[in-house]
Amino acid sequence: MAVYNPASLHAEEFINDEEIRETLEYAEKNKNNMELINEILEKARPIPTATGCRCNGLTHREASVLLACDDPEVTKRIYQIAEEIKLAFYGNRIVIFAPLYLSNYCVNGCLYCPYHMKNKTIPRKKLTQEEVKAEVIALQDMGHKRLAIESGEDPVMNPIEYILECIDTIYSIKHKNGAIRRVNVNIAATTVENYTKLKNAGIGTYILFQETYHKESYLHLHPTGPKHDYDYHTEAMDRAMFGGIDDVGLGVLFGLEMYKYEFAGLIMHAEHLEAVHGVGPHTISVPRVKRADDIDPDEFDGGIDDETFEKITACIRLAVPYTGMIISTRESEAVRSKLLRLGISQVSGGSRTSVGGYTEKLRPHDTEQFDVSDQRTLDEVVAWLMQNGHIPSFCTACYREGRTGDRFMSLCKSGQILNCCHPNALMTLAEYLVDYASPETKAIGFDMIEKELRRIPKDKVRAIAAQNIEDIKSSNRRDFRF
Ligand code: SAM
Repeated sequence: MAVYNPASLHAEEFINDEEIRETLEYAEKNKNNMELINEILEKARPIPTATGCRCNGLTHREASVLLACDDPEVTKRIYQIAEEIKLAFYGNRIVIFAPLYLSNYCVNGCLYCPYHMKNKTIPRKKLTQEEVKAEVIALQDMGHKRLAIESGEDPVMNPIEYILECIDTIYSIKHKNGAIRRVNVNIAATTVENYTKLKNAGIGTYILFQETYHKESYLHLHPTGPKHDYDYHTEAMDRAMFGGIDDVGLGVLFGLEMYKYEFAGLIMHAEHLEAVHGVGPHTISVPRVKRADDIDPDEFDGGIDDETFEKITACIRLAVPYTGMIISTRESEAVRSKLLRLGISQVSGGSRTSVGGYTEKLRPHDTEQFDVSDQRTLDEVVAWLMQNGHIPSFCTACYREGRTGDRFMSLCKSGQILNCCHPNALMTLAEYLVDYASPETKAIGFDMIEKELRRIPKDKVRAIAAQNIEDIKSSNRRDFRF
């Protein structure tokens, strides 16, 4: 029988079923043990240091105890600490991105995804390079600078060469003042060689959702196709990192399996990456399964209500304080509002989940992967974020300055975010406001920028940022970043 070992490269040892089951038992046994819970909460709090603050994070066992505890007072404290951590390491910035669907051809049989091979009703579409160009121009005209490309798995229709060609096309398009400065990639698990090719193509984060850590369910939910191989899928992030990709993004598709099991597996996966590669995941996404073409989310066992979803998000924030957290337009404005306070650092806006969706006038588009709950435009999302005290950031500086992997984590831990990420966020927001915003959003935005500039601690940094923003306003633009 496999033995739990976070540093092993075998899925059954680092996502060890027995360890997860024992963790859930331990959490259940201790969910009213207030002495232990207080200790865990104390451990999770940000600790002030000479340069800022640091956090301990939590082990999967500790975080699972918090998740299991039903006491409303404890939940309140978890939420408070989640917000403190978010503000300490990410400030009030929220990074903005959009998905770009390249192809919905797929040879897998995933039971929750309408792109599954047996679905004969959904139209199949793969973008040509001309169509990629048109989509990217539409995205640039909205104001996007950061994309996550998405594709079904089909070695014949969507081979790695096609993905690489699309990435090249995306980076090559400079339309008006627009440019896509970071392309994150969400494609199926692949080989070390292919990950190296993606790295050399200049990708940002490689994102792959585990869907479920529960092996038996995984095999049932992925009955056919290459994705059926649980070990190959679960070990993909190691191959990506061995292939040279520093930033990887984890995620579970909540709603498929029992959430407590998924939560423990997710934190164990983060611990594993830290143990083997010396750096944890760059991001964690928290998608929930949604209604789609021939998919009914109620058919799965693990559906969770909004309150449970909020608690999961906050507990992840406490467990892995330095990891960015992503929420997509799968969630409504109301749910996104709450989660933003509990640790989310990236949101998508103005998203289309269909192939060719940004150049199609009609919505919903018939190749849509799932229903989008938040259907607002990017301009509306930007205004809403600011009205709620968040700075929408279009910054991609860390990636462009080579601050990836542990170098990004060091910046995060050093407490220098207010002197670095904060001014970068304000400068990129100014670019957005000048180039793309509606008059109302522009007014809210420049007001916010003026106030937020005052929060930059170093005089010199503040002066440079203010000068750059003046230059952006007068169209005297330089590609400057801290
Ligand atoms: N094909 C790639 C793979 O297999 O990992 C990834 C691309 S797929 C477009 C991105 C993600 O969408 C999947 O990993 C899955 O978690 C999510 N997804 C699929 N069907 C969904 C649904 N009905 N509701 C919400 N998310 C869904």
